Amino acid sequence: MRVAIVSDIHANLTAFQSVIADWGAVDAVWCLGDIVGYGPDPMACIDLIRSLSTVSVAGNHDWAATGRIDVDDFNDLAREAALWTSSQLSNEGRDYLDGLPLIETVGDFTLAHGSPRDPVWEYILSEHQAADNFPLFDGIACFVGHSHVPMAFRATWTGDSQRWVVQTEAVWYDSWIAFGDGREIINVGSVGQPRDGDPRASYVILDTTARRYLRRRVGYDVASTQSRMSQVGLPAPLWQRLALGR
Ligand code: ZN
Repeated sequence: MRVAIVSDIHANLTAFQSVIADWGAVDAVWCLGDIVGYGPDPMACIDLIRSLSTVSVAGNHDWAATGRIDVDDFNDLAREAALWTSSQLSNEGRDYLDGLPLIETVGDFTLAHGSPRDPVWEYILSEHQAADNFPLFDGIACFVGHSHVPMAFRATWTGDSQRWVVQTEAVWYDSWIAFGDGREIINVGSVGQPRDGDPRASYVILDTTARRYLRRRVGYDVASTQSRMSQVGLPAPLWQRLALGR
């Protein structure tokens, strides 16, 4: 089975449509949360992911938009965007976001927005944090988003010391990476607001049969998203950052 895995679309419809065009035919689409927040087209992105995705989990921005998370936990710009997003949701869209689960397991794969330990909030940025999370899921890999930075950690179980030994994996694009005998935590990056210095949308293709995955970066019309954000009155720093990938 060939699966497209997306995260952190952040209501950036232009970026989302570009990655859909890029992946061509897939058997399933899995979404790791933050469908909305920051971007100009929350309802269009919700409708599109509902039409495509077989499995989705909740992100902090999804639940901030529905009121399930207090927007006072956000910084000023994120709060302003969350309140605007909330004003754009239909009842059906709000119910969909509210009903998203925290964690999903599909066969050998676990999906969470932030981490298995704290699905909505934790950023896995270090081997130390990854090591704490490896015992908390089973199977081949856990796919996460939330930081908007593509990353991966690979762990092997050492019976002698009874622990997972964790290594950071290099981030490669356009070449298949095979799963080994151990376990992986893979951050797929962000479709709608990358923060690794590369403004292009980031996502992953998983091949469950061949036990391997592939990262892709896809350029999109950043200026078009920026002008939509400006038109609807979203704060300037939020659309300016899209050109920088920061
Ligand atoms: Zn996000």
